[in-house]
Amino acid sequence: MNIILFGPPGAGKGTQSKHLLNKLNSFQISTGDILRNEIKKGSDIGNQIINNMNEGKFVSDEIVNSLIEKLIYDPQKKDKFIFDGYPRSLSQAKNLDLLLDNSNQKIDYIFFLNVNKDTIIKRIEKRKILENRSDDDLNTILKRYDTYMETTRPVLDFYSKNPNFKEIDGTLEIDEITRKIDTFIDV
Ligand code: AMP
Repeated sequence: MNIILFGPPGAGKGTQSKHLLNKLNSFQISTGDILRNEIKKGSDIGNQIINNMNEGKFVSDEIVNSLIEKLIYDPQKKDKFIFDGYPRSLSQAKNLDLLLDNSNQKIDYIFFLNVNKDTIIKRIEKRKILENRSDDDLNTILKRYDTYMETTRPVLDFYSKNPNFKEIDGTLEIDEITRKIDTFIDV
């Protein structure tokens, strides 16, 4: 089963993907984690993206697409993906369709965790204390939220036509969101 978790930063995608990873024995594709890892390694890509990341701007589609391609074609991970933070632009969504098509896979569910700005600000402030992420200051958070909303609107329109698109109230408690997701995947 391939699942996309969709929603702005702080919507709970990371938390829900951990739950799904355990439950379904899947592999997570978190482009945020992959990109942060490139920075940590000090790779060429890491050096190219560090400013954008710290300013809450998107990394280019070319870079992100190139980083996930190998993972999607890995036969051991086939049909076991949880996408967290990807796709985030229409070009990425179309690229994902193509890669899945080429590897004989499909998306089974797209869960849109819909959450308002106030809830996100509160959650990310809490996460900043817990995880100490350098892109978690308030200005960056707001920038990331606005960028997300602007850039991902077309992605939302693209996926909302899909019968497997499920909108979930992301302001609910974590357990409640998990329960709602489970009602779809347990059938
Ligand atoms: P996240 O951990 O998903 O909240 O992502 C943290 C940051 O990584 C974002 O603010 C972007 O700068 C970058 N990023 C993560 N995923 C993507 C993506 N799919 N496309 C472009 N930039 C991304």
